[in-house]
Amino acid sequence: MATVLVTGGCGFIGTHLVGRLLRQGDRVVSIDSHYTSDPANASLYGSNPNYEFINRDVRYPLSDLGGFDEIYNLACPASPIHYQRDPVMTINTNVMGAIHTLELARRSGAKVFQASTSEVYGDPKVHPQPETYLGNVNSFGPRACYDEGKRCAETIFREYAAQYGVDIRIARIFNTYGPFMHPNDGRVVSNFITQALSGKPISVYGNGEQTRSFCYVTDLVDGILRFMRGPSTFQGPCNLGNPNEVTINQLAEQIGLLTETSVIRVHTARPQDDPMRRRPDITLAQRILDWSPTTSLPDGLQETINYFSGIRSPNLAERAA
Ligand code: UDP
Repeated sequence: MATVLVTGGCGFIGTHLVGRLLRQGDRVVSIDSHYTSDPANASLYGSNPNYEFINRDVRYPLSDLGGFDEIYNLACPASPIHYQRDPVMTINTNVMGAIHTLELARRSGAKVFQASTSEVYGDPKVHPQPETYLGNVNSFGPRACYDEGKRCAETIFREYAAQYGVDIRIARIFNTYGPFMHPNDGRVVSNFITQALSGKPISVYGNGEQTRSFCYVTDLVDGILRFMRGPSTFQGPCNLGNPNEVTINQLAEQIGLLTETSVIRVHTARPQDDPMRRRPDITLAQRILDWSPTTSLPDGLQETINYFSGIRSPNLAERAA
């Protein structure tokens, strides 16, 4: 049994990770500022004696906490509309959050996971994106607060490992979806599903021919745990994502089919610096972690549609208790 800290533990990925760790018998302290997460998620696992929630913000020191074997740093708004609302806060969360997390790891002797992102590749000129690709990020654009914040966080993690010997793992997480996405998350999967279920037109930005590769959240959590708990000492960066690439138009069609609604698309302008193509090269994760996602897009979307329809299958809270 490990004692684990999860920052951003009430967010979309955090909620799944915390549930999975509790089911495995670990003791979990979850911290979250609820800037974008649903406060209701803090009490989801409240009946589990191994679970504790503390309302904290990683922009401020975490030095009073301690005694952890592992730390997972997931805290940061991740949807463009949310991370662009207060860009200075986003930069602070990434940069100061990394430092505070690493200082805590250094003091506790904890192994520490950093949730980095495919956004470090910007609007990529290499396709698919391997970890060796250095990226094409506009340092002066509206996404930079997140992209450059996450890039800087990778550097901070690297240097804490080199200078202080902190045992790090950096994963570059590609687009992820599933139950527990917030209905107002603003990202494409939750937007399209909530629009389809309420009979509204589907909001396609641009012509819809841009691509993404969507990974179901439980597959991602598998990858994170293999990375942290597997035998390899490889510290990353390591891509975690599903290489199944689709256009946004294809995603809209798929959601239309599964929700049995006729899709009416409304096209508005594509946001500035919106990446045109994105697909992870997961050769490294396959080889080093022996990991590949297994959930197909239709299966994962169906689970997500069930969740947004109120069916809430699978009931993660019950399974964790
Ligand atoms: N997108 C869209 N309609 C929406 C939300 C997003 O067409 O309601 C597009 C967006 O322009 C982008 C893709 O879907 O090309 C994925 O956007 P999302 O915000 O989900 O994630 P990210 O851009 O961070 O990959």
